[in-house]
Amino acid sequence: MKNFYPQQYKADEVFKINHNYLSEQFTDCDEILEKIKSIVKDNDFTLGSTVDEVEKLIAKEADTKNAIAVGSGTDALMLSLKALGVDKGDEVITTSYTFYATIGAIVTAGATPVFCDCREDYNIDYSKIIEKITPRTKVIMPVHWAGRACNMEKINEVATEHNLKVIEDACHALQGEYKNKRCGGLSDIGCFSFHPLKNLNVWGDGGIITTNSDILSEKLRLLRNHGLRNRDICEEFAYNSRLDTIQAVVAKHVLENKLENITKKRIENAHYYDLILKDILEIKTLERSKDIKEVFHLYLLQAKRRDMLAKHLQSNGVDAKVHYPVPMHLQPAARKYRYSKGDFPVSENLAENTISLPVHEFITNEQIEYTCNLIRDFYSKS
Ligand SMILES: *Cc1c(COP(=O)(O)O)cnc(C)c1O
Repeated sequence: MKNFYPQQYKADEVFKINHNYLSEQFTDCDEILEKIKSIVKDNDFTLGSTVDEVEKLIAKEADTKNAIAVGSGTDALMLSLKALGVDKGDEVITTSYTFYATIGAIVTAGATPVFCDCREDYNIDYSKIIEKITPRTKVIMPVHWAGRACNMEKINEVATEHNLKVIEDACHALQGEYKNKRCGGLSDIGCFSFHPLKNLNVWGDGGIITTNSDILSEKLRLLRNHGLRNRDICEEFAYNSRLDTIQAVVAKHVLENKLENITKKRIENAHYYDLILKDILEIKTLERSKDIKEVFHLYLLQAKRRDMLAKHLQSNGVDAKVHYPVPMHLQPAARKYRYSKGDFPVSENLAENTISLPVHEFITNEQIEYTCNLIRDFYSKS
């Protein structure tokens, strides 16, 4: 098996309007490289001072007391489960409509993922969580899909009632808000990813955990660094998942110089799409709620004849993508949990009809208009 990502990025470059923005993103890379040089001179490689600074900046973004930087978003989720004491035989309730990493983290922590259908807005159906609770349930793990916050009031209510903990998979949702409170600070623990295709991106892997609990924060600091209290004392044999200081330099640079604009542009672009697309009957955009500040990691539509539309857009230079065509419960990896088609009709229906349009900060209004015209043409001609 090959490492497929480099080829994937190259293949994307044939489009006029890309989903990815990796080339445009770091035209200021010399500035970052200079800062990395000083890390090299100081030998400040593991958990260096820049990691501390990133933790402070993210805690401020998520409005939490603590942030703990780790190796990836997936590790953030897995370590959070471990910090809450999740172990073999425990169950974690999560959504069937997510990225593989949410489930991978649960399984890696030793627990069993228990799927719950989502709502029309792609987020876990809070009204169905209660049916999934068993004596083995420990944690509810909602995902703020595409950067749109879940109804955390309802989710926290169920959790409190049944003495469960909540971990937000906020990997899409940095600077997102629910009722004027930041994602990542809406429950016991929040998890973010710095993957190159996330809203805040570094030059490889990285992730971070946010929490208001000092006890969980201390536990997580141990877990990410071999369980070490200090150089000679190990509290608990654990993991090595630290945010690389070199990646921390990139994260800090993006946080200080770009994040505000990234979020602002994504929101503006999404609203412009909403405005132009609202009268095309064959597609459905999400209803926006004033309780939620969406940060549009993805701009999602439900479209009639989705696959044909995707082809039409792609052959005209627009990199429309499908995130994702197969929900988690129908993946080969989930076979052993014995779900079948029809179990989660909302997720399955969304997986068949959803398409995402490029929405990142370098997309221009002209490009949005061009894309929308293609969609309009597609439906008017057929
Ligand atoms: C990207 C992503 C993750 C994992 O993040 P990595 O940093 O790639 O490990 C987890 N959950 C969701 C929903 C994601 O999109």
